[in-house]
Amino acid sequence: MMTLSETLELVRPNIMRLKPYSSARNEFTGGNAILLDANENPYNLWNDDLIVNRYPDPLQREAKLKIAEIKGVSPEQIFLGNGSDEAVDLIIRCFCEPSTDSIVIFSPTYGMYSVCAEVNNVQVKEFILNNDFSINLQQFFNGISPSTKVVFICSPNNPTGNAQPIETIEQILSKFRGIVVVDEAYIDFCPEKTYLSLLNRYPNLVVLQTFSKAWAMAGARIGIAFANPKIIATLNKVKFPYNIGVPSLSVLSRAIEQYSNTKSLISQIVSERELLRLRLQQLSCVKMVYPSDSNFLLVKTTDANSVYNYLLNNGIVVRNRTHEPLCNNCLRITVGKPYENSKLIQILNTYRP
Ligand SMILES: *Cc1c(COP(=O)(O)O)cnc(C)c1O
Repeated sequence: MMTLSETLELVRPNIMRLKPYSSARNEFTGGNAILLDANENPYNLWNDDLIVNRYPDPLQREAKLKIAEIKGVSPEQIFLGNGSDEAVDLIIRCFCEPSTDSIVIFSPTYGMYSVCAEVNNVQVKEFILNNDFSINLQQFFNGISPSTKVVFICSPNNPTGNAQPIETIEQILSKFRGIVVVDEAYIDFCPEKTYLSLLNRYPNLVVLQTFSKAWAMAGARIGIAFANPKIIATLNKVKFPYNIGVPSLSVLSRAIEQYSNTKSLISQIVSERELLRLRLQQLSCVKMVYPSDSNFLLVKTTDANSVYNYLLNNGIVVRNRTHEPLCNNCLRITVGKPYENSKLIQILNTYRP
């Protein structure tokens, strides 16, 4: 298990030394000041309801207070990014020395971890999940080196749909001497499986969540990283000062006010997912549908390329994962609206190999 000071020693020395860009607006917290500091246009021309002529709060303080309340953490444990993809990139840039350090991924998984690593010239150590999509801990501990600085665990995992058990997460958190990122992009579909409660015990844990999936805000680009306040401060130091725009923060604030409605919509999507599973399992082109803690189903078909193209020709776009490890002939299908799911089944019913 790592202490907080051992965790902070993992930060790259140049980032540790970095004095962040400081805008006058960093200190500004509202009120009626005359703002002549940021070379903005003083006239708000384009939106009557939103103040878009002014730069947004670089630390998104209002939004963080509300998120902290919903998630049961403190605002200092929250980083907000331009999607959780921004957090993935920042974590790699804060902890991994280009051309020296490495990250770990467990494939098949979300593609952005390795893309961000490669952009930063950080090596990717890829381990393949077990056949039941669990993590092979022995292989992991045998395969890492002192220059392995960050491990990404996607739970529930994209594209396999399963969450990893708490025992696995804690084994890695307590024995691995680096940063453990648990990407919970789909956690609102299985809220009981969040590992946020481990934050107070493990200073090397970063939990990622996003407003892009269950919260219906993919177009707003807002993601969250939860971690101990020192890691959050490090990410804030490196991010672009005004990384989330005023219109996005405004939509977020409305979405949080409507949280109870969103929760009931989420449980409708989960019921629809199970209905879709039953109907898919009855099709002759479907060999099996994997269990899912998310809003998509991984479906093993008789011929993924053929079914994929057939669907595309009929105006239905799914994700072909057949070239991913363990995903031979698999399609990843997002749960849509009831009529969209029915249309999918209707079209698949007339599929002939
Ligand atoms: C969709 C997804 C994200 C979301 O990224 P954003 O940048 O927040 O839109 C993150 N991780 C995983 C595993 C995803 O599937």
